[in-house]
Amino acid sequence: MQSLWNDTEARDFVGDLSLRVYTSRLLGQDPSLVLHGGGNTSVKIRERNCVDEEEEVLYVKGSGWDLASIEEAGFAPVRMAHMLKLARLPSLSDPAMVNELRTQMTKASAPTPSVETILHAILPFKYVDHTHADAVITVTNTQGGLERIREIYGDSVVVIPYTMPGFDLARTVAQRFPEEAGPNTIGMVLMNHGVFSFAETARESYERMIALVNRAEQYLRDQGAWDLEQAGEFQVEDGYREPIADLRQGVSEQAGRPMLLWATESAKGLSYSRRADVAEISGRGPVTPDHVIRTKRVAMVGRDLAGYGVAYRAYFDEHASRGSEPKTMLDTAPRVILDDRLGLCTVGRTARDAAIVADIYDHTMDCVLRAEKLGGWRALPPGDIFEVEYWDLEQAKLAKGGLRPPFEGEIAMITGAASGIGAACVGAFLDRGAAVVALDREPAVLEQHSAAAYLGIQCDVTDQRAVALALERGVRRFGGLDMLVLNAGVFPGGRLIAELSMDEWRRVLSLNLDANLALLRECHGLLKRAPRGGRVVVMGSKNVPAPGPGAAAYSASKAALNQLARIAALEWGAESIRVNSIHPDAVFDTALWTDDVLEARASHYGMSVAQYKTKNLLRTEVTSRDVARMAAEMCGDVFAKTTGAQVPLDGGNDRVV
Ligand code: ZN
Repeated sequence: MQSLWNDTEARDFVGDLSLRVYTSRLLGQDPSLVLHGGGNTSVKIRERNCVDEEEEVLYVKGSGWDLASIEEAGFAPVRMAHMLKLARLPSLSDPAMVNELRTQMTKASAPTPSVETILHAILPFKYVDHTHADAVITVTNTQGGLERIREIYGDSVVVIPYTMPGFDLARTVAQRFPEEAGPNTIGMVLMNHGVFSFAETARESYERMIALVNRAEQYLRDQGAWDLEQAGEFQVEDGYREPIADLRQGVSEQAGRPMLLWATESAKGLSYSRRADVAEISGRGPVTPDHVIRTKRVAMVGRDLAGYGVAYRAYFDEHASRGSEPKTMLDTAPRVILDDRLGLCTVGRTARDAAIVADIYDHTMDCVLRAEKLGGWRALPPGDIFEVEYWDLEQAKLAKGGLRPPFEGEIAMITGAASGIGAACVGAFLDRGAAVVALDREPAVLEQHSAAAYLGIQCDVTDQRAVALALERGVRRFGGLDMLVLNAGVFPGGRLIAELSMDEWRRVLSLNLDANLALLRECHGLLKRAPRGGRVVVMGSKNVPAPGPGAAAYSASKAALNQLARIAALEWGAESIRVNSIHPDAVFDTALWTDDVLEARASHYGMSVAQYKTKNLLRTEVTSRDVARMAAEMCGDVFAKTTGAQVPLDGGNDRVV
């Protein structure tokens, strides 16, 4: 690991706080030092307040900020003098401590200071850097870890035995650090937790961190515990769609809400899952308390979810009964699943959560494997893990709850998703918290959204093999399928029956009808495993109730699709799958309706474009967004008891009404 300090870059950062931003970002660039909001940094600055008093202010990383992208606004300014008084208290509950941190800020709009703020305050150096560096925690979490740390660092660090993060840790450090620090001290190692470095300048503090971590890495190399066997390629096999959906259904049941499950296809994850001793080593717990909070659960092996739930409940009962505070049990669903066929699977309420767990576990596997080579992986005892998992601060967050998006933890697949109504549907479902698998023939579908919850797949839905592969990919990415929007369709130019070729007829029916039959059939096994019941929305047409001349193939295909949807509603009702149709009309903001076409059609009727667009009973314009909102609502709670319905979305049409 090398210092990333660059004099030219650093010149753009003028002032103590600005340099704090610069080196914090340097730390944040290396995921083996800090992962997803882990780690924190600070700087102490003397300032004049508005009543012209000079005071020392600690700028410490605020919660919700990531070191990799932090800005000056991400640091919370707290009064040093008060922090030092707090450090001398014999005890303070963590919620009370957080209250003190928030009320001692000099800027009301700043983010909540890190729970490690007092720790930063008591270290008598201007700059303080703290990471959960993989190499250091690997060494601390091994047999004989304490002796190894002393051997590596000698008197250059103060070593603190494991203490629960929060006020207790700050107090322990406040007592031990002044006694144990000497002239050579450049850092502090917290056993089973992480490492601190400090100095009078931003650069020196940062470079001391790099140097400290390098010493741990070198030690691991010297002990033959650094290089890990490379896992081969992950071979994706077909046929796992329904087993994965089963797994997700079980996990969602344990969580009491729909959850996403990501089969990561990590070669490392698969070879780890197939180790003979995987149950034993993965059961020993996470590498640092920070990860307990993010991943919530220790890994489970295989697919015995019920057994896992029972074991989790026993773990809760045993440890909760020891504390004085009553605890609210978290759900019993695992967040990491190791399966000897699927490899590493991760679970989250959102795609981003599942991705964070995957990142953390990727590092965890390296730490565990290296520690095994070094003499044996030793995680914290379950009692200490419980303390962090059921920390007062975490319980308070849980109690606060808050409104969650309606489709959180659910997956929608939308066809014809690259433009028009399909693209609007993608937006509507993402907005409501769903993960979206978007299919379209056009490559534009690949890059339409960058959210972790979005998977665009270029796919011709008339190609059954391509659809099966797309479903397999969608299920591996998100875990199953809850909602299906059958939107892809074609509207060929007007043609009278007398001129209609069989080729054109077949082409229209193949996309508008046959492809949807295949999609319904292929998705059925997934929809019936949807935790809250499957939902299908079929994009029909005003042409179903009110066909027009010159649209034989289109109207016939949509009418047949309508009948297909009604039969699906009949066949699947007992499996809690709802099937409803929308009949839109005159949706002009789609690729089909260019300005030229609109003008030509309007003048054909002797109307202006504006009149033509609103030639319905309500005199209103119907947009793709209106249709997309209806599609989403049909999958939501309002339509929870409706199936087989056909809803017009046309501004009112006298032939339909
Ligand atoms: Zn920490």
